[in-house]
Amino acid sequence: MLSPASMEITPLKDWPFKFTGPLIISGPCSAESEQQVLETARELKGRESAHIFRAGIWKPRTRPNSFEGMGEKALPWLLKVKKEVGLPICTEVANASHVELALKNEVDILWIGARTTTGPFAVQEIASALKGVDIPVMVKNPISVDIALWIGALERFSKVGITKLMAVHRGFSTTLDSRFRNGPNWKIPIELKLLLPNLPLICDPSHIAGKRELIQEISQKAMDLDFDGLMIESHIDPNNALSDKSQQVTPQNLQQILRDLSYKTEFSPDKDFGPELEALREKIDHIDFELLENLKVRMEIVKIIGESKRKSKITALQKNRIEFLLNQRVQKGRELGLSDDFVRDIFGHIHAESLKSQTDIISGV
Ligand code: PEP
Ligand code: MN
Repeated sequence: MLSPASMEITPLKDWPFKFTGPLIISGPCSAESEQQVLETARELKGRESAHIFRAGIWKPRTRPNSFEGMGEKALPWLLKVKKEVGLPICTEVANASHVELALKNEVDILWIGARTTTGPFAVQEIASALKGVDIPVMVKNPISVDIALWIGALERFSKVGITKLMAVHRGFSTTLDSRFRNGPNWKIPIELKLLLPNLPLICDPSHIAGKRELIQEISQKAMDLDFDGLMIESHIDPNNALSDKSQQVTPQNLQQILRDLSYKTEFSPDKDFGPELEALREKIDHIDFELLENLKVRMEIVKIIGESKRKSKITALQKNRIEFLLNQRVQKGRELGLSDDFVRDIFGHIHAESLKSQTDIISGV
């Protein structure tokens, strides 16, 4: 199991932005014009649909002839969002010169894009440029399913003294589920949460979805998994966006998405739920202990059979018996509403352990 270096992490509640509920970061995939940036920001602010404004100005594109962002000249537009609209601003940086320009233009939060997280040299260059600077950094997961690269990037920022760190889950490019542009592979952010429980973690449903129709569903899943917030791309006119147009929503759509989310907490405010949950968990504990005791008795019987097989010079493995046993268990499980795979898996393991024990007895180990 991977063990991350110990990192000093500032809890989200101590970051210098005021918000309640999940942290919502929104704004266009790319800043395209001063008007598009300011109109989007004003709508978001007016609808109370974002705590922080995002816009990409240096866009890492897969193909060289795609729109690569407006670059440096978009920074004053973002600064206007901060000064005139009153939303903190964040943008993606991919090298030391981006960092320098972003800091000069009072960007509040930097984020590291998924393609950049993949490359330790680039991450280190950005981290070194931030040595001694107190600015929050959000690190998107690398495009490949590699939790070590994700943690490695976070460690590089921690080592130069960044304590306002956050992870952003934006899905992975290899996916078996073709509904998504980037497969969510939820077990990876969950593992990150277990390894670094104090690290704020938000979800970027836009890049997971690739299409706006899926954003609600993914956002809800992230809330159910207790993520700290969402980064959702929004655009005043998504259909004419210069990048990621199918996944962007209008500020109005975003307001509706946020209204339709149901928020769950790890500890229910409903006071009856606590004792009720406790009682159910106790039942589960009893059932599990009973299962273990039954397994112990089963193994004792298996050993007795092993002894008699040894005396009668019979092999431990009897193919017909295992096939019969598995089919019969699967059939019984089906009658009880348990899935075939589940029952087959469990009895596969039980049988493998029984076989091992009998083989040891027969060969006199
Ligand atoms: C983005 O946020 O617009 C972006 C390019 O994201 P990612 O790095 O996750 O692809
Ligand atoms: Mn985008």
